[in-house]
Amino acid sequence: MTIPDHRMAERIQAVKGMNDILPPESARWEWFEDKVRALMRRYGYQGVRVPIVEPTALFVRGLGEVTDIVEKEMYSFTDSLNGDRLSLRPEGTAGVVRAVVEHSALYDGGKRLYYIGPMFRHERPQRGRYRQFHQVGVEALGFAGPDVDAEVILMARALWADLGLADVRLELNSLGQPDERRAHRDALVRYFEAHADRLDADAQRRLHTNPLRILDTKNPAMQPLVEAAPKLMDHLGEASLKHLDAVRAVLDAVGQPYRINPRLVRGLDYYNLTVFEWVTDQLGAQGTLCGGGRYDGLIELIGGKPAPAVGWGLGIERVLELLAQQGLAPPPRAPDAYVVLGGAAALPAAAAAAETLRAAGLAVLLHAGGKDGPGSFKAQFKRADASGARFALILGADELAGGEVSVKPLRGAGGEQQRVALAALPDWAEQVRTP
Ligand code: ATP
Ligand code: MG
Repeated sequence: MTIPDHRMAERIQAVKGMNDILPPESARWEWFEDKVRALMRRYGYQGVRVPIVEPTALFVRGLGEVTDIVEKEMYSFTDSLNGDRLSLRPEGTAGVVRAVVEHSALYDGGKRLYYIGPMFRHERPQRGRYRQFHQVGVEALGFAGPDVDAEVILMARALWADLGLADVRLELNSLGQPDERRAHRDALVRYFEAHADRLDADAQRRLHTNPLRILDTKNPAMQPLVEAAPKLMDHLGEASLKHLDAVRAVLDAVGQPYRINPRLVRGLDYYNLTVFEWVTDQLGAQGTLCGGGRYDGLIELIGGKPAPAVGWGLGIERVLELLAQQGLAPPPRAPDAYVVLGGAAALPAAAAAAETLRAAGLAVLLHAGGKDGPGSFKAQFKRADASGARFALILGADELAGGEVSVKPLRGAGGEQQRVALAALPDWAEQVRTP
């Protein structure tokens, strides 16, 4: 027989790249999410909640087989009960589009939607890059015009303002339409073929598989060649240029600077026309806070009636990191009152008083003692001070006998200690409530 020993059980740790968010950090998240929800209300965007697990086929189709995400970053598995191929969502757009198509949600016109939630990508964890991370996303579905492109771009700008963030730049580009991209691609191949002697080995390999990727070369010797290569912008037709100009005109009208970045392409195949990123120089290589664009082809690709769409995804961890870096923090949220008890006998009255105050809108901590009661006043006041509460509410034997509580201002909240009748607590709450 083995004798159980008293060593602690071996610890199980969180999965690498997946983080716990504990207080006080969680308060920053809630503050951020409150700002996001208020923003969405102001712009008339409604929340959607879709599953975290989707059929793998949705992302393969929606993102494209040869994207980094689908090729090597997805958490995919077989449902052991029925053999289905499933994936943890690596991004939010495909799921939202699936849901909208499945429920014919566009039958009565366009929809402005948003979500907040976790995404999963098997990447190398580092600052600003995790395996479970969180995004806010907006999707404006069923609208074809440049007005909504500008609208979603400006929503991100409004969020930076609401958060107090500085130094977030806007980069903008147009990917045109698929036929324009094909014409550009053909011109690129002809151009690089004409200069085959100047291509490095990498570029030669990519020439016929993915010539666009040659433009991303890090090889300094290739830079002059790449700089002079045909530009997609020069292959855009009148309609595409008009769309871009209309977006620019709105940005100009609100005084939002931007840089046209012809290298900005987005990883995903289904983007067309407007693409943009909000970037910062303060987060090193993980400087993209928010990226998005128009994806008019996706809804049809996922089996819906063709409909245009535009949206963005924003990395919450990166935004919070930048906030911390800029010294921006939510206002502290201490309780209004901490209830201190003279002994176990005071518990029913104390708990009832705390409930009354909470119902009146105050944040109240009732001292949590042990099996043998609440403990000494001294120990309780130490807790009350540490909680940051503005008032201690004392229910000793005296107060109990008189149907009252003593209210003691803490941390220089000002005023004298006073007695308040239990029945008068709602009035007292009214007096001390902060907006
Ligand atoms: P990157 O170029 O940084 O890999 P991406 O193009 O893969 O970004 P998107 O798919 O557009 O990113 O996602 C939108 C946003 O989500 C990014 O701009 C970024 O802020 C955030 N994000 C993407 N991947 C991660 C990750 N692994 N960890 C934390 N945030 C992420
Ligand atoms: Mg990525």
